[in-house]
Amino acid sequence: MLHTISIILGALVGSFLNVCIIRLPKEESIVTPGSHCPQCNKPIKFYDNIPLVGYLVLGGKCRYCNKPISLQYPLIEGITALSSFLLFIRFGATLTYLFYFLFISALIVITVIDLYHQIIPDVISIPGIGIGLLGSLVIHYITFPNSLIGVLVGGGSLFLVATLYQWLFKREGMGGGDVKLLAMIGAFLGWKSVILTILLSSFIGSIVGIVIMLLKGKDFKYAIPFGPFLSLGAVISLFYGEALISWYFGLRR
Ligand SMILES: [Zn+2]
Repeated sequence: MLHTISIILGALVGSFLNVCIIRLPKEESIVTPGSHCPQCNKPIKFYDNIPLVGYLVLGGKCRYCNKPISLQYPLIEGITALSSFLLFIRFGATLTYLFYFLFISALIVITVIDLYHQIIPDVISIPGIGIGLLGSLVIHYITFPNSLIGVLVGGGSLFLVATLYQWLFKREGMGGGDVKLLAMIGAFLGWKSVILTILLSSFIGSIVGIVIMLLKGKDFKYAIPFGPFLSLGAVISLFYGEALISWYFGLRR
């Protein structure tokens, strides 16, 4: 029963994240006006706005102008619902669940905005650092010193990654937004997991970069945003960090 509620809650939050993704880069209010079709501007009826269900009932088309509704909407709602469910399995009905659901929700918004606009909005990452630090005072899963060192290690070690990235791809690929994002990840995950996040995201990012380079030819000029890789690395660290770290040190023994 509670598991079902976690999925429904996740889908509802996902619906709100879609609003943030569309409106934050335009610096519009995320509260008013209510949802409307981006094509014909007609307000969307509440029953058409039910996460996932609305999209399926409408067959992916606007009720009024029949233009296709972006797949982004059901996709984000589905991913957020799945995240909520997995976090609930891991942490149960606890504050820790809420803490990390907030964290993953922020990462989802950051990832999609970075993919669309190549920016990481400060309005998410900077308060995120504060919320992570404050949360660590309340949550048993992470201590405040760990969170604080996580912020410093996450923000500070970016220089190393930026240098590595520049060496691999012969151009600058990181920005100030990435520094603040990594500091936020450090605040929520602590210093060990933020290092793991950097390693995982550099590794995955390099593979994807090399594949794109091979596909597009040598002189490709596509800027690959790094935010999505950092977010993916952070989520893997959150769910599998302890297992990966103990596996690694087990190998070294
Ligand atoms: Zn429409």
